[in-house]
Amino acid sequence: MSAGRSVTVRAPAKINLHLGVGAPREDGFHPLMTVYHAIGLYDDVTVADADDWAVEVSAVGGVDVSAVPLDDSNLVVRAGRALVAHHGVRRAARIRVRKGIPVAGGMAGGSADAAAALVALDRLWDLETSDADLFDLAAGLGSDVPFGLVGGNALGTGRGEVVEQLPGADVPRWWVVVTAPAGLSTPAVYRRFDELSPDAPAEPRAPHRLVAFLSDPADAVAPLLHNDLQPAALDLRPELADVLAAGEAAGALRGLVSGSGPTCVFWCADADAARAVAGVLTEEHGSDRVLVATGAVAGAHVVEYDR
Ligand code: ATP
Repeated sequence: MSAGRSVTVRAPAKINLHLGVGAPREDGFHPLMTVYHAIGLYDDVTVADADDWAVEVSAVGGVDVSAVPLDDSNLVVRAGRALVAHHGVRRAARIRVRKGIPVAGGMAGGSADAAAALVALDRLWDLETSDADLFDLAAGLGSDVPFGLVGGNALGTGRGEVVEQLPGADVPRWWVVVTAPAGLSTPAVYRRFDELSPDAPAEPRAPHRLVAFLSDPADAVAPLLHNDLQPAALDLRPELADVLAAGEAAGALRGLVSGSGPTCVFWCADADAARAVAGVLTEEHGSDRVLVATGAVAGAHVVEYDR
């Protein structure tokens, strides 16, 4: 082990093309049927050996990182501790996170970081963790973490942690992403979902038609995009309805709240349409809050390996 060795892993944000939510299970989690889609907004996680766990966080572009914890509650440290416990080794790392994914935006940035940290530390220490063990560790860290490992398009079941890759990841998709000035708490959105949906089914709504049409042209897919959490997010943040309406009026095929929100995402026909929609929304929200991104992209992958 030489001094200064480091590994950088890049992990993408997710959008739920379909998010079906059922009534809470006995363990308190909501059963999900979701179609995950990874888009080209990224966090980069760099790990290097250290005597003790330490986290540094910096922002890419206009991302507000003030709510990201720098202590042991950061998901990258939880991922690191879970990995060393699994292998029974005594190791620690300094972990730097460069955040391009909006924080508390419903795009699973913390989960992406956890997935990236697992992959980066596994490489740094040559642990050769099996894929099955990596997925188990990821699922223990959070419902969206296993998807952070695979990327592309994937079906998520259970509480989202059981992932199965889906086709259509090779068809380029164009998105406009509008972030909000303040995040929304995921548990608060689920609580409001429970209040608004006392008759939610035990089995969430399945995305059969979307899965069958995933490789189709964007206009055919647009009406199939669906988010059961959207009414709850709009109830907590009524102004998001105006953002969605403005994006659709500007030419997006569909506007959708991303996951638990408050980020709004717009499905566009092609690159030109996305740039046009982004131009209109930038006038209202400013260039720091309006991003253009493509999907689907790869899950957590090594981008730099310094020995
Ligand atoms: P969820 O995955 O629950 O839908 P989200 O995508 O809305 O969440 P995240 O950016 O993942 O939001 O973070 C939610 C909260 O998790 C943050 O407010 C922060 O307190 C905590 N957190 C812990 N570790 C991280 C991390 N590495 N990056 C961002 N947030 C983190």
